[in-house]
Amino acid sequence: MAQKTDHLTFDDPTTRHPRVSPPEQDQPMPGLDAELDPPADRGETSYRGTGRLQGRRALITGGDSGIGGAVAIAYAREGADVAINYLPDEQEDADRIRELVEAEGRTCVQLPGDVTNKETCERLVEQAVERLGGLDALVVNAGKQVTSPSIEEISDEQFDLTVKTNVYAMFWICRAAVKHLGAGSTIVLSSSVQAYSPSEHLLDYAMTKSAMNTFGKGLAKQLAPRGVRVNVVAPGPVWTPLQVVQGQPKEAIPEFGLGQPLGRAGQPVELAPAYVFLASPESSYVVGETLNVNGGADSP
Ligand code: NAD
Ligand code: MG
Repeated sequence: MAQKTDHLTFDDPTTRHPRVSPPEQDQPMPGLDAELDPPADRGETSYRGTGRLQGRRALITGGDSGIGGAVAIAYAREGADVAINYLPDEQEDADRIRELVEAEGRTCVQLPGDVTNKETCERLVEQAVERLGGLDALVVNAGKQVTSPSIEEISDEQFDLTVKTNVYAMFWICRAAVKHLGAGSTIVLSSSVQAYSPSEHLLDYAMTKSAMNTFGKGLAKQLAPRGVRVNVVAPGPVWTPLQVVQGQPKEAIPEFGLGQPLGRAGQPVELAPAYVFLASPESSYVVGETLNVNGGADSP
């Protein structure tokens, strides 16, 4: 009988996931995992939990799809209840994640809402606390990335929305959450390899990601004496809806991630263990770290 493999199986990382060359495609904002071709691996059948987040209560923004979806599945399999935030147009993806979380016997609170609005960010935190009975893990992961060939083509509106989604929302959500986080709680921010290796066509986006890295390090120092740990994950190219809603030039999609030293793009399930580690007590002495999960790209 063939042995069942999962994310804890020892194998060759170059071939663990196929070296896909996705067809050129685009989707209207905000994009759905349900429509991604080929579908991404968020750990539905491949993530195996080992009880590392037993009883934790986590709020995950952008928890409907991609990396955030994989984190929600992994957290549930590690024993956590989760609240996921997403945009109302992403209900289909959010329902799939909820099914997977509930299949583990865990709670999945759905909190649709646009994080470019301050009141929405504050409400999200309050509702997560109320409906999960508290909060001990926050994952700030929602993100906006729009490719623009030239600075002259970045509209004020795009610049504003990118900064609001990636930076202001992070600030508003963290500020609202801090009073609820007791010793042992954690915050994890989704940054990017773009923070220190900006693509010329992602000027505004890359800038927000380095702001996130710096904010994470500073907040980590501020909250460490209270026993609250803040860390950052900086993914490299990962196959998610973000890339096909103008995240990359359309003609670049078939080449996405193929130039990494591992020779392929990452799958969302390969990011989840970093988020699990940083929320679990085994990372108790890891504070203000940026954990790069990027298939071998340079990092500071
Ligand atoms: P994704 O599209 O699956 O997730 C992004 C999520 O952001 C969406 O699902 C959406 O729910 C949320 N979002 C966007 N605008 C929002 C708004 N105004 N209000 C509420 N929610 C909003 O794509 P992903 O790649 O999994 O992205 C997750 C994070 O990872 C992002 O912060 C992204 O910048 C970061 N990242 C991704 C890659 C990659 O290659 N995919 C690389 C580096 C960093
Ligand atoms: Mg989504």
